[in-house]
Amino acid sequence: MTKYTLLLTLIVLTFSCKKDAEKPLESTEKTSSKYVEDAHSYAQPNKAVVTHLNLNIGVDFDNQVIEGQANYDIESRASSKLILDTKYLEIHEVEADGKPTYFELGDFDEQLGSPLIIEISEDTKQVTVHYSTTEKTEALQWLNPQQTADKQHPFLFTQGQAILTRTWIPIQDSPQIRITYDAKVKVPSGLMAVMSAENPKEIVANGKYEFKMQQPISPYLMALAVGDLAYKAVNDRTGVYAEKSMIDKAHAEFSDMEKMVVAAENLYGDYDWEQFDVIVLPPSFPFGGMENPRLTFATPTVIAGDKSLTSLIAHELAHSWSGNLVTNATWNDFWLNEGFTVYFEIRIMEALYGVERANMIALIGRQDLTEEIEAFRETPEMTKLKLDLSDKNPDDGMNSIAYDKGYLFLRTLEEKVGRDKFDAFLKQYFKSHAFSTITTEAFVDYLNTHLLEPNEVDFNVNEWIYEPGIPENQAVITSDKFENAEQTLQTFISEKSIDTSLTTNWTTQEWVHFIRNFPEGMTAEDMKRLDDAFDFTHSKNSHIAMVWYEQAINLDYHDNGVDREIEDFLIRVGRRWYVSTLYKAFKRHDKVDEALAIYKKARPNYHSVTANTIDDLLGFKS
Ligand SMILES: [Zn+2]
Repeated sequence: MTKYTLLLTLIVLTFSCKKDAEKPLESTEKTSSKYVEDAHSYAQPNKAVVTHLNLNIGVDFDNQVIEGQANYDIESRASSKLILDTKYLEIHEVEADGKPTYFELGDFDEQLGSPLIIEISEDTKQVTVHYSTTEKTEALQWLNPQQTADKQHPFLFTQGQAILTRTWIPIQDSPQIRITYDAKVKVPSGLMAVMSAENPKEIVANGKYEFKMQQPISPYLMALAVGDLAYKAVNDRTGVYAEKSMIDKAHAEFSDMEKMVVAAENLYGDYDWEQFDVIVLPPSFPFGGMENPRLTFATPTVIAGDKSLTSLIAHELAHSWSGNLVTNATWNDFWLNEGFTVYFEIRIMEALYGVERANMIALIGRQDLTEEIEAFRETPEMTKLKLDLSDKNPDDGMNSIAYDKGYLFLRTLEEKVGRDKFDAFLKQYFKSHAFSTITTEAFVDYLNTHLLEPNEVDFNVNEWIYEPGIPENQAVITSDKFENAEQTLQTFISEKSIDTSLTTNWTTQEWVHFIRNFPEGMTAEDMKRLDDAFDFTHSKNSHIAMVWYEQAINLDYHDNGVDREIEDFLIRVGRRWYVSTLYKAFKRHDKVDEALAIYKKARPNYHSVTANTIDDLLGFKS
């Protein structure tokens, strides 16, 4: 019995004790099978479902609280209750069609939170919940001025994926739910609020902002950021938000945004969200990017000064189709969001910068995949594309398997059927499933009937999706530039010196490949020679710096101030992929004490998503 089934049983029991007449009634209720069971949500959308949210909240930086009301349009199928997901929220009062109604919070679960069970009648049209967030909220990160780029004003951002939206808004927090929303958000004067919605472009004096999201989105895509922000357009439908000191740098870095949107549309059909903006957040943002509709949230570590890390923007843009338009029904189907997005990202990069660059990005992912499969040696079931996360945090499935094995599956399929047919299939897939959700099983069915059978193609789809590891028919990706980088490394090892003119035009990907593939026998002295030639220790490119620091930990390299740089990096940056790579390296080499000494200083700057991962990794108890 999974935790979920147990909890549901408890809820039903609570209800049947309270109202004996209710249980038999339930069996006659009209239910629709539109929604599948989601182990990570208490909501029962087949009975009563939220279709629109009207949010009216105030953002209080002094007390670090969001307070207000959430008003929902609901469709009830003759149910007597509406169930919302909540976690660490204080619920003050609930109304049904404007009149107070009975509500209760069910038992608390460490991962899922508590169901908010609201009594409604079969013709209830609207429900309003008055609530406030608490200091335990996991979605919100409140930053003091020192944690921002400009150091003048506080900052707030949210991160909803996977199941954290319920920690700042009571909501039916399953990706298969789709809602439109309006919001009124009051913030301290002088600050700007932006959401995954139609956004302001200037600060308004009274701090009152209004938002509208007219396309239905999944609840994990609800997003809010508040800070001393400025906006700079790239063209009439793309642009950048950032703190003032960052805005010009960010704008220059992302000046290819419109070209990316055009390339994406040429591949798989119209961009359906009107506006595509990016907000550059403070460095504690836990992800590279988050594809909040109309407004991608991004880490400042992506700004390298030479556009070399902007495949991240292509990735978040691609989510406007795979993820936001066609959404995984549950977190067990997460690979449908991410595998397709990596595939699409790499196709955009190929369209803009050529096949060589695209293959280098794909190969770095391929190496990540090898490492991930090795890391799951003891639990090979975690290397299936379709997962069973029912007794786990959905965050556990957010790793290279969904992204890079998903990509490899689609690339292998593309090579098997041919690009023209594959592109036509994908275009049709996005179009016919637009603004809906899909399970892995429904995708397999669609793939068979729309691509494989009509073209009489035999393909081991089930092995790819439902079995662990990587099937033998995988596509083989090669790169001449990477082979050249390996050759350069070999020459350096044998000659103990390097001709720097050979590396003049290297891209970030070549450097990353060069550093990550140090051969057996490489020493700290070798690292010192390379560092003296290229100053990797002080690299402004966050990806190059990260892989260099990892090798410094691996090989006990301590020169040129690298220890200090590693510590600064870990304290300044909260991007989970980066910091977990470094803490893992410390752990691998029995340097947990060293890691903990840094972590204690860094942790206050990390979002809960990152802190939870590192707490587990280092066995840290707060
Ligand atoms: Zn993604």
